[in-house]
Amino acid sequence: MIERIHVITRGHERLEDITPRIKEMVRRLRIEEGLCHLFVPHTTAGIIVNENADPEVARDILERLEALAPRSGRYRHAEGNAHAHIKASLVGQSATIPVEGGKLALGRWQGVYLAEFDGPRERTVIVSVTMTAAKPLEETIPEEFRKRL
Ligand code: ZN
Repeated sequence: MIERIHVITRGHERLEDITPRIKEMVRRLRIEEGLCHLFVPHTTAGIIVNENADPEVARDILERLEALAPRSGRYRHAEGNAHAHIKASLVGQSATIPVEGGKLALGRWQGVYLAEFDGPRERTVIVSVTMTAAKPLEETIPEEFRKRL
């Protein structure tokens, strides 16, 4: 099962919390156990799984990435967004989260962010949910039919 989520990012560099949207999708698919894979098909955006309880963590991550690849740095890439390509490479473009008991098995403080490094713009997250274990067959057959088997 593959779905695309569209995210309109609200700044040049931002971590957009997409956790509720991913949770809603997993709930709607009614999968008991599986894997939820997220991928952004972009060269200047990424996916981060990290704390979403204290918003200062997202700010610290962006500040530290800016120190590593400053927007005003000297780069060869003529488009002028080399800093965004470097930051996107550092955070990566995908994440895989287990689905357990019908829910994303995120830690208590974890959230899923689309990391924007060259916004604002519309981004796409490709979400693939793979079922690794179904409910036992007998549980999926209604009682009245089970008796006839
Ligand atoms: Zn570029």
